[in-house]
Amino acid sequence: MSTLYIVATPIGNLEDISERARKVLSEVSYIACEDTRTSGVLLNHLGIEAQTFSFHAHNEHQKVEHVLNILDARQHVAIISDAGMPGISDPGFLAVRAAHKAGHTVSVIPGPDAATTALVASGLPCDKYVYEGFLPQKKGRQKQLKQLVDEERSIILYESPYRLKKLLGELRKYMGDHRMAAVCRELTKKFEEVVRGSLKHVSDTFELRDEIKGEIVVVIAPKSYSE
Ligand code: SAM
Repeated sequence: MSTLYIVATPIGNLEDISERARKVLSEVSYIACEDTRTSGVLLNHLGIEAQTFSFHAHNEHQKVEHVLNILDARQHVAIISDAGMPGISDPGFLAVRAAHKAGHTVSVIPGPDAATTALVASGLPCDKYVYEGFLPQKKGRQKQLKQLVDEERSIILYESPYRLKKLLGELRKYMGDHRMAAVCRELTKKFEEVVRGSLKHVSDTFELRDEIKGEIVVVIAPKSYSE
């Protein structure tokens, strides 16, 4: 029986790789990587010389067939993304679905993801949350923002540093100055930072900066939450 492994990898700090992830990646015949060069750095660091192939948003449909062929040939394959958990705003879901349907075993090796790391770091309620990933950049963006206004769970959004100021402005416009939020930047990395407070405070803080760098998760508190 062959297995499709979905392996979480670090979101910044390479020491966050798990022992199990290391073991699985060193034992599989093939590793499907979102970007073979990016993952090459991690695999080099781990001393792993497995065969890799690219598996990204633009070739995912076609490469799922390749993954199934490997599994049909009774060989194990792992999927890793550039960072964190495959399938979470990254390729993975299609292959997992296809492997289940074809009767193969799927095994997820848990580990870091930016969403739950940010949620906990935010100091906002963690008991109920909704993961929205990246909002659409154009069509449907305003509609989705409006739908989130009355949300009574913490909301997790991914955003690029170039669009952070715009996003915070929009959140303020729809949700008001007083809604609590946190911007979690460069988690697990050298310049890790959490800017937390009212949307007014968080937005004003970033408006004062000329350049915003790094990877960002925005967490917004439930509508009725106050402190
Ligand atoms: N699969 C990943 C996961 O498990 O979180 C997410 C991949 S998604 C393409 C990349 C986005 O995740 C970034 O734009 C950023 O919003 C978030 N992200 C990834 N690493 C991060 C980090 N170290 N700090 C903050 N946000 C991060």
